[in-house]
Amino acid sequence: MQSGLLIKRRFCALVACSVLAIAGLYGSDCLAATRVEVKIPDIPGYLTLKCDFHMHTVFSDGRVWPTVRVEEAWREGLDAFAITDHIEYLPHKRDVRPEFNRPYEIARQSAKDKGLILIRGAEITRDMPPGHLNAIFLKDVNPLDVNDWKDAVKAAVEQGAFVFWNHPGWTEQQPDGKSQWYPEHTELYEKGWMHGIEVVNESSYYPLAHKWALEKKLTIVGNSDVHNPTNLDYEFHKGVHRPMTLVFAKERSTEAIKEALFARRTAVYHENTLIGKEKYLRPIYDKSIEILNGEVTVKGKGKVNIRVHNSSEIDYELAADGIVEEISAPRSITLYGDRTVLLAIGGKLEMLSGTRQIRIPYRVRNLLAAPDEGLRVELVIGVNFVAVEGK
Ligand SMILES: [Zn+2]
Ligand SMILES: [Zn+2]
Repeated sequence: MQSGLLIKRRFCALVACSVLAIAGLYGSDCLAATRVEVKIPDIPGYLTLKCDFHMHTVFSDGRVWPTVRVEEAWREGLDAFAITDHIEYLPHKRDVRPEFNRPYEIARQSAKDKGLILIRGAEITRDMPPGHLNAIFLKDVNPLDVNDWKDAVKAAVEQGAFVFWNHPGWTEQQPDGKSQWYPEHTELYEKGWMHGIEVVNESSYYPLAHKWALEKKLTIVGNSDVHNPTNLDYEFHKGVHRPMTLVFAKERSTEAIKEALFARRTAVYHENTLIGKEKYLRPIYDKSIEILNGEVTVKGKGKVNIRVHNSSEIDYELAADGIVEEISAPRSITLYGDRTVLLAIGGKLEMLSGTRQIRIPYRVRNLLAAPDEGLRVELVIGVNFVAVEGK
């Protein structure tokens, strides 16, 4: 869906470059890096910041240098990110000196130059239970390098860190191959030492973790946990994006992101799905969708097209959620991102007349307020019914 658009954009850039080169105004720098914005709107009162709080570099088991993470984040439209190398798993330590604060220090200036917010973090990497936990907004990673995992989490919390449980649905790490909430997690939770949980990690969505997050009022996050260059795992040039956490922040700053995370103002953008509370998903949908001809005339059982424009990049997948007495409408329809879609409605009664407001009920299957619970929406139109005399 996105690739056509990208090809068009690149073609235009190429033409512009050629013209400038011919005019002698532009050097050999024509293949300058470009950033592709993530088209998901802000919501009333908050900016929608696109974030990834989990990734690795050569300072643990990743395959890239920290500044490459900055370059990728910028090109892929992120606003903020955290490099969270493992503390306890350092397979490159013969070649790269294990210094836990170095990834942040190396990337910091580069992030600043590109207007990105870089957050200092680390991954506490232990067997299950409790498994892996990310701590972000750290001041110093070194105090987390201790034997007992409880001391590591305590050291993070003492620095005011936001701590979340990583990939709780990664069953290979589970002793019996099943996702489980262990007494160790209860202990962390009850101490106020676990603030969030990954409901999406890499390419997996974990409905069970989503359920736990709702029950226990944990902040939901979704992250790439990328180890490779991101383009090896996500074909960005073909319109594929990494999973990201949408943070609804009062402003664009580290402190505002931290405040929003502790206040649980997040959603997760995974493939073509948004996961999050209704109060955040609904305004995103409402701001994305516009009915271009909201007043139409239907003659008898005749048909008419409603033009629905979607300014976001998400393809909203609508399924009918009820019957409308006066008109027929498609049982399912996809409102493609960055497109206008025709939605055909038809009259059901020859003799109906007068103007009525019609509300067509749908569920958006890829806006998940809870596991398997698509957001309920209505397409609202004004219909002027004109009776047609029987033949
Ligand atoms: Zn991990
Ligand atoms: Zn990781």
